[in-house]
Amino acid sequence: MRWHTLAVHAGLGHDPQTGAVMTPVYLTSTYAQKAPGIHKGYEYSRTHNPTRTALEMALAQLEGAKYALAFSSGLAATDAVLRLLSPGDHVIVSRDLYGGTYRIMRKVFEPWGIQFDFVDTTDPSKVEEAFRPNTRMVWIETPSNPLLYVSPIAALADLAHRWGAKLVVDNTFATPYLQAPLEAEADIVVHSVTKYIGGHSDLIMGAVMLNDAPTYEKLRFLQNAVGAVPAPMDCFLVLRGIKTLPLRMQKHCENAQKIAEFLATHPKVSRVYYPGLLTHPQYLLAKQQMKLPGGMVSFEAKVSSPEDLMPLWENLRIFTLAESLGGVESLINNPASLTHASIPEEERKAMGITPGLVRLSVGIEDTEDLIDDLANALNKIYKI
Ligand SMILES: *Cc1c(COP(=O)(O)O)cnc(C)c1O
Repeated sequence: MRWHTLAVHAGLGHDPQTGAVMTPVYLTSTYAQKAPGIHKGYEYSRTHNPTRTALEMALAQLEGAKYALAFSSGLAATDAVLRLLSPGDHVIVSRDLYGGTYRIMRKVFEPWGIQFDFVDTTDPSKVEEAFRPNTRMVWIETPSNPLLYVSPIAALADLAHRWGAKLVVDNTFATPYLQAPLEAEADIVVHSVTKYIGGHSDLIMGAVMLNDAPTYEKLRFLQNAVGAVPAPMDCFLVLRGIKTLPLRMQKHCENAQKIAEFLATHPKVSRVYYPGLLTHPQYLLAKQQMKLPGGMVSFEAKVSSPEDLMPLWENLRIFTLAESLGGVESLINNPASLTHASIPEEERKAMGITPGLVRLSVGIEDTEDLIDDLANALNKIYKI
C-alpha cells in the first residue's frame, strides 16, 4: 500500500459486528467471562482494549514494524524502553534532545544505576569513542530537539550492533511518514504521539514500535505491569489523526521550508536551523534519510537577552507561544525558558540552546499568512 492509502486504512478495518466504518470506542474497564478464563480475548482494559488494539495495529503498519505498543505519554513510552536496562548498564545519548528525555535519564534512571553519556551523535566517530564494554543502548533523536541536527541512523545501527547494543530512535520530529528507522536497522522506535501522529494538540500519548519478538514481550509485560496505558477515547482520536498524517506532513514541510528560507535572509536572525537548507550541516544526510525535512524550524534571533524577545511574543497573531509541537496550528517557543528549562543552564549553553533561540512548530495554515505574521513581529524587535 502507498502512503495515503495506508494512513486512511491502517488499523482493524470495518467493525465486524455492525459494519461501522470507524473503529468503535470501547469505553469499558472490564469484560464478561463465561467461566473463569473463558472469554473473547479481553479481560481488563489496562491489559487490552479493542480500540487500543486497533490503534497499535495502525501504528505498527505506519512504522513498518511487526509490533507497536501505545502508552499514556511519550515519556511513559521512553520509561518502558529504559526499563529494558539493568543497573550498571551504559547508554550513549544524543547531546541535543527533548528536555523531558534528558530529565528522566538524569533524574530517574541515573539514581537507579544506569549510566548515560551525552555525545554528538551526528558524528559516528564520536559515538564510537563513547562505547564501553557495558554499553547496551544508543539513544538518538533525529532530527533533534530543538537544534534539528540529523544523526545517521544506518551507520549508528551498524555501530551499535557491532558492540552488541540496541539503537533506539525517537522518531517524533520526523514521523513514520518522513523517516523509517527500522528499515535502516534501528531496533526500537519511540514516539511522542502527542505531536504529529495525533496532530491536533488535543491529547497526550506515546508509542514504541519494533520487530524483535522477545523485546516486544518484555515491553508488553511492562505496559501492563506498570500500567501507563492510554484511554480508549484518546486511541480513537489518534486513529482519526493518522488518516491525514501524510497530507498534514506535506503541508507542514512545505510551509517550514519557505519559512526557513525567509528567516535565512532576515536581518534580525543570525542563524537558522532547518535540515532543508543547504547551510544545514547534515543537509545531504537529511535528503537521503528523510522524505522531506520536517515541520520544525529553529532560529537564533539577534538579541542580547530573553527580554528583548518580548515584542516578538506580543506581536504575533497566528503563531501561539506554547510548549509542544506537531499540531495543525503554528506554535512558537523559547526552548531556554520553556521546553528545555529542565536542563541545567550550563548544560544548555554547552548544547547550543541560547536565550535567543526560537523554535517554530510550523502549522498547516497558509504560508503567506505565517510569513507575514513572523515578518511583522520580528520587525518589532527594537534596534540592537
Ligand atoms: C514531546 C516529546 C517527548 C515526550 O512526549 P510526551 O508525549 O510529552 O510525554 C519525547 N520526545 C520528543 C522528541 C518530544 O518532542
